[in-house]
Amino acid sequence: MTSANLTKGRYLVTGGAGFVGSHLCEKLLQLGCEVVVVDNFITGRLSNVKHLLGNPKFSLIEKDIIEPLDLEGGLAGIFHMASPASPVDYMKFPIETLRVGAIGSDHILNLALQKQCPILVASTSEVYGDPLEHPQKESYWGHVHTIGPRGCYDESKRYLEAITMAYHRVHGLRTRIIRIFNTYGPRMRTDDGRVVPNFCMQALANQDITVYGEGKQTRSFCYVSDLVEGILRVIQCEHSEPINLGNPTETSILEFANRIIAMAKSSSKVAYRPLPQDDPKTRCPDISKAKNLLGWSPVVDLETGLKSTFDYFKSTL
Ligand code: NAD
Ligand code: UDP
Repeated sequence: MTSANLTKGRYLVTGGAGFVGSHLCEKLLQLGCEVVVVDNFITGRLSNVKHLLGNPKFSLIEKDIIEPLDLEGGLAGIFHMASPASPVDYMKFPIETLRVGAIGSDHILNLALQKQCPILVASTSEVYGDPLEHPQKESYWGHVHTIGPRGCYDESKRYLEAITMAYHRVHGLRTRIIRIFNTYGPRMRTDDGRVVPNFCMQALANQDITVYGEGKQTRSFCYVSDLVEGILRVIQCEHSEPINLGNPTETSILEFANRIIAMAKSSSKVAYRPLPQDDPKTRCPDISKAKNLLGWSPVVDLETGLKSTFDYFKSTL
């Protein structure tokens, strides 16, 4: 199974003006599908989808999904991507983040029920919290600080998973849950505070690279085109339980900083800053389930993906 096998129908993408959502919309259009985006631009941008606006198969509704959504016509499927995603964003908008995960998700699941179409919801590796199991398998229940600064996001996504399973169990809705691990690529906001834009922008300006803590914490970075291919396979499979999507190549943040300095041929130096509270110490997906069920694994290596992302950030200057 690949993205090319997707039914060529009309799809709704919530959060389609965001980083991941905009790449997903682009790919859906390339595959010959029709796309409707609903976005309130809280963390997304019109510029992410501006190049799609002239396409007769693309439409954009500016709306907050914490309000009920009436949409005329049938749908072949829904991709529910709406939610602030970067720690800086969700800590700035904790109530909005909880509301979109809870009330917004309820509305969108209800819409899927009305339209009798499959729905894929975007959960996150953050449901594992600061994990005590490594790498993280879908069977791991997680280690989350509910009332910590990341709790607004982690609990919003845990609720999203719970209500999605409830719609599946009560109504037989065709639901899919993906747990996305750190994803990067062009169209990330330069000021979203995540490590990839921060380090790339700092390296471009020959400024200090701000490594939090000692930089020993690890992350595993997945290029956005790999994630999109995974998403388009998951919606086609009849599996309602969570599936990890991410790149299992793990790196420490200090190593990552040095890699970006070298790639950028920058004169930046590493500068250490305090480690934010509850920052997960390790994060790496076990992707056996995605491999077995979907034949999916990432194909873009870090060097190639970082180069194209870096070129994008350079073009924003
Ligand atoms: P993003 O902030 O770029 O995109 C999210 C989009 O959702 C934005 O366009 C935003 O305006 C929109 N949105 C938020 N609340 C909304 C609301 N109430 N109504 C309508 N639109 C709303 O983030 P992203 O990195 O593209 O993440 C997309 C999804 O993937 C999110 O659900 C996120 O939790 C999940 N995810 C992303 C990553 C990653 O590394 N990028 C990792 C794990 C999970
Ligand atoms: N980080 C860092 N410097 C920065 C931004 C982030 O050292 O300028 C670290 C952060 O502490 C975390 C990792 O990089 O350990 C990834 O952070 P990001 O905000 O991208 O996402 P997270 O994986 O924490 O959700």
